[in-house]
Amino acid sequence: DIAARHLHARHRLLQMLREVQATRSYVPEEAIQFFAHVLNLPIARVRGCVEFYSFLHTTPRGQFDVYFSDSVTDRMAGSQIVAKRLAERLGVTFDKPRPDGRVTVSLTSCTGHCEQAPAGLVNGRVFTRMTEARIEKMASLIEHRVPVSEWPADWFHVDDGIRERGITLDTFIPPGEAIRTALARGLPATLDEVEHSGLQGRGGAGFPVGRKWRGAYEMKGTHYITCNADEGEPGTFKDRVLLAKYADELFEGMTIAGLLVGAKKGYVYVRGEYEYMMEGLQTVLAERRAAGLLGDNVCESGLDFDLRIHLGAGAYVCGEQSALLESLEGKRGIPRVRPPSAVKIGLFGQSTINNNVESFVQAAQIAWKGAEWFSSHGEAKSRGTKLLSVAGDCMRPGIYELPLGTTVRELLARCGGENAKAVQVGGPAGTCVGRDEFDRRVSYADLATGGSIMVFNDLRDMVDVARQFAHFFAHESCGFCTPCRVGTQMLKHYADKIADGQGTKRDLEQVRSLCDFVKGYSHCGLGETAPNTLLDTMKSFPEEYSSRLLAEADFVPDFDLDASVTESRALTGRQDQLDQIHSD
Ligand code: SF4
Repeated sequence: DIAARHLHARHRLLQMLREVQATRSYVPEEAIQFFAHVLNLPIARVRGCVEFYSFLHTTPRGQFDVYFSDSVTDRMAGSQIVAKRLAERLGVTFDKPRPDGRVTVSLTSCTGHCEQAPAGLVNGRVFTRMTEARIEKMASLIEHRVPVSEWPADWFHVDDGIRERGITLDTFIPPGEAIRTALARGLPATLDEVEHSGLQGRGGAGFPVGRKWRGAYEMKGTHYITCNADEGEPGTFKDRVLLAKYADELFEGMTIAGLLVGAKKGYVYVRGEYEYMMEGLQTVLAERRAAGLLGDNVCESGLDFDLRIHLGAGAYVCGEQSALLESLEGKRGIPRVRPPSAVKIGLFGQSTINNNVESFVQAAQIAWKGAEWFSSHGEAKSRGTKLLSVAGDCMRPGIYELPLGTTVRELLARCGGENAKAVQVGGPAGTCVGRDEFDRRVSYADLATGGSIMVFNDLRDMVDVARQFAHFFAHESCGFCTPCRVGTQMLKHYADKIADGQGTKRDLEQVRSLCDFVKGYSHCGLGETAPNTLLDTMKSFPEEYSSRLLAEADFVPDFDLDASVTESRALTGRQDQLDQIHSD
């Protein structure tokens, strides 16, 4: 049934597996064999896909499947305390279903609700602002098998979290008007407008959107439009609001790009954690089709373009453009070798424009209101405004739309974070700045960010923050290349050793050199940025590291070699002189 509903299309494998997971609580071996057979795929390819995504499982989960969001700011809001309390109350170990199959409790990477933490998911539904009192009630509801649909509705309430609006959040386009304006102006002239606006990719890398679109426009052959709505960078949650409230603007931007380059199809890749938004997004798509804004002959232009939504399944690396395209093709999200760029060889081997949600929304607004309206904001080399997701130690966490070029100090004043000692700009992959750098600017010319801003006050332990990020990258590395696969594990090990007070000066030197290696030789952006926070915090907070080091030792072995070979000695019966290890 599932395969037929998806027209036996191989690229929809991930969607099929998600449906099996939702109905069975896992993907059993017979399902793997079945899909391999009907889709004519190697079994290893299907199994590899299941094992790659953290929301797919090869063994059953509980009837109630609970995940707690576990980013640094979630922990600061007490996520680990409530997660442990629930596990204790229900008598479960993390990640293991209770023997009666009733429940599983797990931690997962950031679910994108940091300003309403502690947050998480139960059977795919997002809960926010979890408290210990609610945990008591949740445990009881689970014990009494009360369906999640009958749980208190306010547990599932998600605020939009908007604190400050700028030109983007203040602009609502009447459905179809940006497309009609673009058609009336002429699509090539609209491309000129997008170029002249200076809009740069809002995912953080800042590649000029107009230049990307022009590159695709000049390519012959089939084209696709894809939107990165994966928003997996811990601490980022502003695309959540754009998807919930500005879906028309997003679809309008994708449609204009599609009509411009002659694409017939586009895909929105929505992170699995935002599954609860699917119904709303599908409704908007259906309304737009009914209004002639998608499908055949869009706005009577004689051009066809339609959109489809693809749901991820929990893999941070799929935020990387080429990994996202692999995932859209129904494969594991392993980043591709680049060049060529996606504009040349992208989805299904064809020219593809891939932008994130904010970029498409702003491109639609530029198409409607013109380049000057946008470029009169921001600074010379970073035009326009940026949506920032602010969380952590501040009085007013939430979404702030500010002109690019705003200083960290000004942002802190707006969000009530004046007591900060450090700000992480751009999530774990970004830059950590201390007080003496608060006059730096959030812009592509200085501190680039996809939107994540985490605030830390004097009480926070920056070595521990760096340790948590090291764990995050070791967990999220896709394992494809050795420098990242092994390097992130080694960085995690050293971060633990130092944070636990067992590190030496020599370990710090090892970390520096390992960071250089991982940054320099990794295959994709994940590995290239994984060491950032360790390096930044060692530079900005050297006293927090030096106070943790063992003063009396220059070198502490990482493990006891004699002890580690005891078992082998017993198995081989060797206890002779030659077998002994001499440290001298
Ligand atoms: Fe995978 Fe890391 Fe290599 Fe990127 S750098 S391809 S995430 S192993």
